[in-house]
Amino acid sequence: MHHHNPEFHFCPVCGGPVHSTCIKWGEPERLVCSACDFVLYLDPKVVSCTVLETEGNIVLLKRAIKPQSGKWVLPGGYVDRGEPVPQAAVREAQEECGLEIRIKRLLGVYSYPGKIPVVIVYMAEAVGGEMISGDETREAKMFSEATIPWQNLAFQSTADALRDYFSHIRTHKNNKGEKARHENDT
Ligand SMILES: [Zn+2]
Repeated sequence: MHHHNPEFHFCPVCGGPVHSTCIKWGEPERLVCSACDFVLYLDPKVVSCTVLETEGNIVLLKRAIKPQSGKWVLPGGYVDRGEPVPQAAVREAQEECGLEIRIKRLLGVYSYPGKIPVVIVYMAEAVGGEMISGDETREAKMFSEATIPWQNLAFQSTADALRDYFSHIRTHKNNKGEKARHENDT
């Protein structure tokens, strides 16, 4: 994931110079071409990730590329234009750690003020393949809740998604327990 803010100086349509200007009151300034008036909207970038369960643990990847090289992330990456978001998560898991996965449900959507990515995180399970490290990965490893490297996670979204995941798992377990006890009572 690239978190730097790219700067654009030229119009992608005609190559003319762009300038930053207010085109609608109350909205952020936009980059407008001085030659052809094309407006270059700086849209968010969509990232699709998974909390990937395998053998009762979850998979984290140690990044081999900048930014945050050496830190741990969820399997995932940018969604290509026209690509369904869950499909991007499946593709990224295959590319980055060699695992064939099945999406179970949406865990959450993570976005932060001033940041470019909108990170969509699914819960998924491994259904095949062999865990390997892809091009952008130094290491693929399984962690339990107790061994998650909280101090060495790459992004805010990584930590927030993992907290939501474990909280979901606990709630789910408790509900099951409640239900089981209730069934025993009757
Ligand atoms: Zn132009």
